Amino acid sequence: MASTFPLEPTGREVEALTREVVEYLAAFVDGGKETPASDFDGVEALLARVRQPIPEAGLPLKDVIDLVAAATAKGHDTTGDGWLAYVPGGGLFSAALADFLARTTNRFVGTWEAAPVLAQIEATAVRWLCDLFGYPDGARGVLTTGGSLATFSAVVTARQALLGEDFLDGIVYVTSETHGAAAKAAALAGFRRSNVRVVPTDRDPRMDPERLTALINEDKQSGLRPCVVVATVGTTNTGAIDDIDAQADVAHRSKIWLHVDAAYGGFFQLTERGRHRFGGIDRADSIVLDPHKGMFLPYGTGALLVRDGVRLRQAHEVHGGPYLQDLAPEGGIPNFADYSPELSRDARGLRVWMPITLHGIAAFRRALDEKLDLAQYLYEQLRAIPQLEVPWRPELSIVCFRCASRHWSDPERATATLLGRINASRRVFLSSTLVEGRMTIRVCILSVHTHRDRIDELLGIIRAACAEPQPDRDRQEPRGLPEPEL
Ligand SMILES: *Cc1c(COP(=O)(O)O)cnc(C)c1O
Repeated sequence: MASTFPLEPTGREVEALTREVVEYLAAFVDGGKETPASDFDGVEALLARVRQPIPEAGLPLKDVIDLVAAATAKGHDTTGDGWLAYVPGGGLFSAALADFLARTTNRFVGTWEAAPVLAQIEATAVRWLCDLFGYPDGARGVLTTGGSLATFSAVVTARQALLGEDFLDGIVYVTSETHGAAAKAAALAGFRRSNVRVVPTDRDPRMDPERLTALINEDKQSGLRPCVVVATVGTTNTGAIDDIDAQADVAHRSKIWLHVDAAYGGFFQLTERGRHRFGGIDRADSIVLDPHKGMFLPYGTGALLVRDGVRLRQAHEVHGGPYLQDLAPEGGIPNFADYSPELSRDARGLRVWMPITLHGIAAFRRALDEKLDLAQYLYEQLRAIPQLEVPWRPELSIVCFRCASRHWSDPERATATLLGRINASRRVFLSSTLVEGRMTIRVCILSVHTHRDRIDELLGIIRAACAEPQPDRDRQEPRGLPEPEL
């Protein structure tokens, strides 16, 4: 029987509506291998179709799905196995199912009382992450919408714990390789922009602990208050891993907060190699993870872990208004609203808990080990291409390369041209960065879908692109040479 109210479908209608969506999704998933890695053809026409005034009447679901499908096909295929730019994740389908369940049942987990077991499921997911990093029982954490928001809460917690309310003399330490999320978090947390210090790195490029100590001492002598140092396990640029034990020693001696940004690299802690490389991470005061990267979840899931959970609560707990007076105080289950900037939010714990519960953690460990192996393989193969320079053996799953100066008259430009040619294949999509001030192409292998076949295809594309003649820098590019994408 059809529902009388269009905003409230009956169970039967829900089945029928879902079937229509699933039909598209099944085709989407099966078509993945053939989908172009990037596609901007016809974007303008589609933009015009969605730049419309608010409609008075609705459309049939079929028409809406068609439009969403067309919209999804444009841009970068961020679920594809050829998506090797920035930091991919892939988007695990079991997490999408968890979201579907969580959003259809729409339970409230901002405070535990409204859905105690679902709140505990989120607390359990956080506890698993704490266990992974050897955090004590008193540690607490929250799932956020991403690494940036988690970093914001980490910096606010450090600020509150160490500086109190007058903190304009507080100093934050980063390196040139630290993700911009740290400086942004510091700015949002109220630190002066001029109070973010960039600590020099060694060649690896890792934060130099002696230079950090020297800067902290200088700041103290100037009457300033060093507050937090941000170390990184797996920089976004090159995958470099700071020496956490050395940073922890400095932080301990100087009585400042050690925050570890593990947004890209953190889940490699599940692997033998990762654990070995992240030694000392259990000494960090706070850790940020991005399950939407290393756990392959869809966008929208970050995590913050704080070693002394009381500090996290003290920084975020504000006595609620009288309309919240019926809520139970924290029991054995945390009130997440007291640990994060958010009150109402989706029950995102399910998105982490359900894939682990369904697949077992071993499936994640195997997938991450595979990505580490693929990066080593790619590195070895790239080194055998004479036109290229591959400056570092990958520590995790990011491989950087550029056109070798011994081979090209203008290696900077040659590298840019090479990137354009690779991406014009539409079978893979890579991004570039500056390392040591030089144009560098990076391959980040972290999509759950990326396997050996696509890496071999990438190598074929790179070899062919290197073999093409380089346009003379003083002349126009020969016609037909692909321009870099958008
Ligand atoms: C991605 C990333 C961030 C930012 O996280 P978002 O989830 O994009 O907000 C911070 N640090 C590092 C190292 C990252 O790779």
